[in-house]
Amino acid sequence: MPKNYFKAYPSDEGLFNEYGGAFIPPHLETEMKKINDAYFAISKSHKFISELRSIRKHYQGRPTPVYHCNRLSNKYGGQIYLKREDLNHTGAHKLNHCMGEALLAKHLGKKKLIAETGAGQHGVALATAAAYFGLECEIHMGEVDMEKEHPNVQRMRILGATIVPVTHGLKTLKEAVDSAFEAYLKDPITTIYCIGSVVGPHPFPMMVRDFQRVVGVEAREQFFEMTGELPDNVVACVGGGSNAMGIFSAFLEEDECKLYGVEPAGKSFKTGEHAATMTLGSPGIIHGFKCYLLQDKEGNPAPVHSVASGLDYPGVGPEHSMLKDLKKVTYDSITDQECIDAFYELSRLEGIIPALESAHAVAFAFKLAKENPKQSILVNLSGRGDKDLDYVVDTFGLPD
Ligand SMILES: *Cc1c(COP(=O)(O)O)cnc(C)c1O
Repeated sequence: MPKNYFKAYPSDEGLFNEYGGAFIPPHLETEMKKINDAYFAISKSHKFISELRSIRKHYQGRPTPVYHCNRLSNKYGGQIYLKREDLNHTGAHKLNHCMGEALLAKHLGKKKLIAETGAGQHGVALATAAAYFGLECEIHMGEVDMEKEHPNVQRMRILGATIVPVTHGLKTLKEAVDSAFEAYLKDPITTIYCIGSVVGPHPFPMMVRDFQRVVGVEAREQFFEMTGELPDNVVACVGGGSNAMGIFSAFLEEDECKLYGVEPAGKSFKTGEHAATMTLGSPGIIHGFKCYLLQDKEGNPAPVHSVASGLDYPGVGPEHSMLKDLKKVTYDSITDQECIDAFYELSRLEGIIPALESAHAVAFAFKLAKENPKQSILVNLSGRGDKDLDYVVDTFGLPD
């Protein structure tokens, strides 16, 4: 890895080697440039940094702890640690970038935040940020996800957001992004698109990564304080890749830390039954940027499935795409069933109910622990499972 990684990537054009960039209409280009310039100016200002720091501490409840899983480590081998992003306000890592994006929106004089949501976690986080800053909020969500994640729909409504149901295509995350993008294109002056992951046109993948870096910075310090070492392995689930970039960012320049991104293998590797973008995709363009993509022969995004709505995306962040090619991060996948097993295992052995997204990372950590009983594994527990309770019990039942 180059020294000064964060200065080198992305380039001024928003490129992570061949990935990323901004494939967007000209009038949006102007808006993206404005956002980029404003971000560079204010993200380095003392006022912005101290305001964000204060929000993280007094409002979000950061730093979130790192926890050593005694019972799981005894059972699976290895030493398994969790970075507890499930304890971040609103129950997932997403508030980290939403508070940053909303603070930036406020600075730019925007009136309204627009976004898509999959599991509803990004929508809840953004609606929370909008309430905090006194901004309007419009969330686009696929009808299938609205049904599956009903408690989050109610949460967003209680927080004052407007929900726009998306009724075309598979009615999940990809269609929700299309719909939110369209709404933003109609009024890019008073509104701002607050993307939910390290995806989309430049500068979003960079900004969201930077706002999520706090996870890695904290975790590295906490892990070192607990053990006197750095972790041998760092594991995170990858949908778009924001929680993974957050925790990986603190270890990218360490050759001795192995990094693993975990994708959903779903029900099978048949088209439409998984969302294993890195495992089965090829470079292509989606939502204004280049990345590994699950696509058909014409380059249209393929249908995807995961038991975890937040991982249900045919693309992936451009930085992850580059890190795969550089072999700096290893990408692997976990099936729906392995995810459900890990969901119950963590609940019953440690008293922590994980989000189904995070349970993918946990399931992979179990495999890693069995193969490497002497090594330490730091898992980013990106969120809590409250949103998934009814769905899991109704669909899969309780284990014995
Ligand atoms: C949205 C979400 C994810 C997936 O998004 P990334 O950008 O890949 O991190 C993972 N875990 C939880 C709990 C989520 O809500």
